[in-house]
Order: sequence, then structure tokens, then C-alpha cells
Amino acid sequence: MNMLDIFDPIYIIAVFFFIIGLHRMSHPLTARSGIVWAGGAMFLAIVVTFFMPGMRNLPLMAIAMVIGGGLGWFAAKKVAMTDMPQMVAIYNGMGGGSAGAIAAVELLGSTSNPSLAALSVAGAMIGGISIAGSVVAFLKLQGWIKQRPITYPFQQPVNILVLIIAFVMGAFVIDPSILHGSFQPLLPFFVFAIGYGFLMTLPIGGADMPVVISLFNALTGLAVAMDGFALENFAMVIAGTLVGAAGSMLTLIMAKAMNRSVFSILFGAFGAKEEEGVSVTGSLKPIGADDVAVMLAYANSVIIAPGYGMAVAQAQQKVKELTDQLASRGVSVKFAIHPVAGRMPGHMNVLLAEAGVPYDRLFDRDEINQEFPNTDVVLVIGANDVVNPAARRQGSPLYGMPILDVDKAKNVIVLKRGQGKGFSGIENELFYADNAKMLYGDAQETVGRLVQSLKKL
Ligand code: NDP
Repeated sequence: MNMLDIFDPIYIIAVFFFIIGLHRMSHPLTARSGIVWAGGAMFLAIVVTFFMPGMRNLPLMAIAMVIGGGLGWFAAKKVAMTDMPQMVAIYNGMGGGSAGAIAAVELLGSTSNPSLAALSVAGAMIGGISIAGSVVAFLKLQGWIKQRPITYPFQQPVNILVLIIAFVMGAFVIDPSILHGSFQPLLPFFVFAIGYGFLMTLPIGGADMPVVISLFNALTGLAVAMDGFALENFAMVIAGTLVGAAGSMLTLIMAKAMNRSVFSILFGAFGAKEEEGVSVTGSLKPIGADDVAVMLAYANSVIIAPGYGMAVAQAQQKVKELTDQLASRGVSVKFAIHPVAGRMPGHMNVLLAEAGVPYDRLFDRDEINQEFPNTDVVLVIGANDVVNPAARRQGSPLYGMPILDVDKAKNVIVLKRGQGKGFSGIENELFYADNAKMLYGDAQETVGRLVQSLKKL
């Protein structure tokens, strides 16, 4: 039996594990085990590859993996939940960079087959764009460069020109004979591909970054799949395709959640202009924790709308205590989960699941929006953009983003620290509405005070 025959079945097992992992990640209750399945699949695929005939530089590879794995482990342990999008962006960029580097090695070798060279060029181009774009996404989310769209005259024509040059260089790389040895096109090809990744991400604002990261993730998968074809490694082809497909789906779902097209996210420089000429009417009406506790205790129905502030305050455990207190008094408590609340897809689901809030209390926007008019009290805990009624007003930069209709409830209590704006930087007229009151303070502390007040009632 040929030695190589052993590898394909093991790769198939790994791919099977990948698919189980991906499937389990689609539900918050099974998502953690999905990570374990996918991690196990990756481990299996890597270990098997070490035993492939003709594999060289094993000690070097092992050292690189120990360093990379160690750094990854350390960073993942240390990262705050609120910094997760940056981490995903940079790790995704590493994937794109690796795909580009693999393609570069192939292209530097003696690839005489033009089809394989074309695949490597495609992998290198996509990988280069992905790492550069992911680095810009990281810098924006980390706040190291301006989060707002960075725009300048003739931006899109310049970007298109850079992309066209990258394509032309790529064609020269595939068939260097066109150049009659006048210059080596590989380096300029990479410079223009990476340059395009930087330039295309600069005009995209921070609020659109989750969609963009997801798109780069899909591109990285595609680059890996191309490399897999070039290397004739079908585990890479399937794993890359899975990442490409899952990333594309997530991109579309998130764009839909923001009611924007992927095209407008990529090329619309959303948020470059400040909102103009909007003046809110009404006043902010502070309320104390004891009064809110009384309202909650005597309510029939309470909906909690959590947002980024709950994550920053790490208030989820206290929120669970509050839920238990209210439930023990016979109050119906539900959670309204907006798909882009917080700073990463599924952010609220993860935090609430971590705190032990039963999953059947969590409802997404479409399921719960019609319930707000019949709800006695809505507690908005550290959410802002996802409950901003400005999204219904034409001319607002948020216009069209589907929101949680909390302003339609009988009473709205907003827990936040002060007059801070949301991620989009747009004023929220909900806070000034007649039915809204403000409970100021850090969310963990204020929810804690609510629990104490409720216990005394
Ligand atoms: P926002 O970022 O719009 O608002 C958060 C609010 O929380 C602020 O107004 C702030 O007000 C308050 N806050 C901050 N810290 C605390 C604290 N310790 N205690 C109490 N309140 C606090 O959050 P949303 O969840 O409503 O919206 C998410 C936004 O992030 C959307 O614009 C979305 O597009 C964007 N985004 C989403 C990503 C995702 O994948 N989910 C990724 C990246 C961006 P104050 O300062 O007064 O306390």
C-alpha cells in the first residue's frame, strides 16, 4: 500500500470533525463543544502532516508552532471579552498572511504549471489583501488609528488603480516570459496586493468592522483553499472552503442585521459625516435604584435589552441574580438580543450563557419586537445604538438599521454611566422620551443595587 493512501482517510476524519464543530457552533448551547471539535480536527490534520513523506524542516516547524501556539494561548487567556473583535481581526489576518506566505513559497519554487501558478497567485492576492485589511481593522478597533472612515479625494479610483496593477503583476508572475526578464514581478505583485488591502479598509468606519472582519475571514478561507489546490492538499481545500462559506454567510447575516448592503459597507464610507441639524427634545430624567426596584417588583412583564456597557461592566452575573429575583416574584423576564449588540457577533449570548441565564429567556429582535408595547418595564443595560429610534428617521446615519423597539414599552429604564454616546457617536432621543428614565452608574454596581433593593421589598 502506498504511504500516501493512509493520509487521505485521516484528512477525511479531520474534515468530518470540522463540519461537526461548525454545526455545533451555530447554537450558543453547543458552541463551546464546537470549538473543541474543530480544534481537535486541526490538531489531527497538523499531526498527520508531520508524518507526510518528504516533509522537511521538522524541528523548525515544531519551534514555530510552539512559539505561535504559546503566544496564541497567552493572548487568548489574557484578552478582555470587550477586546475580542480586535483579537479575531488580528488572528484572521495571520491566517491570510500564512496563506499568502505559502503561495509565495510555491511561486518562488519551480512552478512550471500555469494553472497551479494561477491558483497560487490568487491565494497570494487574497491572502495579502486579507492580512493588510485585518491589520487596519485591528488598529481601528484597538483605537490606535481613527475609527471613523479615513477618506480623501479620488480615493476609490486610486484604490481601483492599485487593484488593477496588482492583477497585472499577478499575470506577469503566472507567465514571466511576457517580460523577457526585464524585471521580477513577484515583489511588486505583493506590494500592490497588500497595499490594496490597506487602502480598501481605511474608508470603512469602526461600526462596520464586524462585517469587514467576517468578510476578510471568508477571504482567508478562500486563499487557504486556493493554496490547498496548488499543494494538492485536500484537507486545506475543504477546511478553506468551509471557512470561506461560513464567513460569507456571517458577512451577509451581519450586513442584513444592519440593513446595509455589503457593497455600501465596503465602499460607502459610512459614518464619515457627522449627523447634522438634529436637536433632541425633552429632558433626561434620573431615577434611583430603590424606585426602579419597586417598578420591577410590581411589573407583570420585564424585558432586558443588554448592550456593550453590560459587557464593559461585566454585569452579566448580577443581571442573572436580578433575573432570578424577579422570576421568584412571578415577574415574566425576557432578554431582547440584538445581533450587533456589544462588539462581536453573539457577544450578549456568550456573556449571558456564561452567567447561567437560561437560553429560553433569550429572544432575538424579530421574535420580541412586537412584545414591547405590552411590556411594563424595559431595562436597557449599557445599550445605546441598538435601541436608538434615530434609525427610523431618514437622514440619520443610522437610518435603516433594524433596532429593538424599546421606546414603545410602557416604561424604559436606561442604565448607563453618564451622557456617553454609543459606538456610532449619534445622540439617542430615547433617553429624552417621556416614558424613559435614567439610572446612572456602572452597570454592575447599579444592577447590584437593584438586587439589594428588591431583596428588601
Ligand atoms: P453602544 O456601543 O452603542 O453603547 C454602549 C453604551 O454603554 C454607551 O452609551 C455607554 O454610555 C454605556 N456604557 C459603557 N460602559 C458602561 C458601564 N461600565 N456601565 C454602564 N453603561 C456603560 O452599544 P450597543 O451594544 O447598543 O451597540 C453596539 C454598537 O457596536 C453598534 O453600533 C454596532 O454596530 C457596533 N459594533 C458591533 C460589533 C458586533 O459584532 N456586535 C462589533 C463592532 C462594533 P456611558 O458612557 O454614558 O456609560
